Amino acid sequence: MQIEAAPTEKRYEKPEGERRGLIIVNTGDGKGKSTAAFGLALRAHGRGKAVKIYQFMKVPTARFGEHRMFEQIGIPIEGLGDGFSWKSQDLEHSAQLARDGWEKARATIMGGEHFMVVLDEITYPLIYGWLPLEGVLQTLRDRPKDVHVVLTGRRCPEEINELADTVTEMKLIKHAFKAGVPAQRGIED
Ligand code: ATP
Ligand code: MG
Repeated sequence: MQIEAAPTEKRYEKPEGERRGLIIVNTGDGKGKSTAAFGLALRAHGRGKAVKIYQFMKVPTARFGEHRMFEQIGIPIEGLGDGFSWKSQDLEHSAQLARDGWEKARATIMGGEHFMVVLDEITYPLIYGWLPLEGVLQTLRDRPKDVHVVLTGRRCPEEINELADTVTEMKLIKHAFKAGVPAQRGIED
């Protein structure tokens, strides 16, 4: 590691533009996409803003650490899926759940009553062809202007990245899983 001088000047001027709702994408192969989205949800909730989290690949009964905590503090989180596809018995059923779930998410976004709507792992139903990309893009474009939408999942479609305001790729440098460490409570779920 190389030591360098700490900055002594401001690095940027205050932006001149207007504040508005953002499309924020957390994608990439490294860990942290969902947890960063949940961090944003916490931050917004801390400011007294209405937040709703939808999870496209989790079952409605999921009880991970985040579900327990969000229940305690009053952030609604809703699983819309039936788990990952290799666990699913019936892919047509998974596709139908994704479409039904999307209708709910779309209504919440368009309703304009939420400051932030999180669409966790929405990239998978898009990649698997369960949800038409065009419908999602249309909703993102047509949404009320102050609504922030956060999308997560690997391989986010380029069309969404282009439309988005802030896109972060979680770059895989290492993952404990590769060294044989299984998922752990409080870290993975
Ligand atoms: P997290 O929920 O921890 O923020 P994530 O949303 O970035 O992770 P997903 O692709 O949703 O990652 O992965 C689901 C689970 O798989 C997570 O619990 C995560 O820790 C784990 N995971 C993430 N990246 C990898 C990886 N490269 N190899 C194996 N498991 C991973
Ligand atoms: Mg995730």
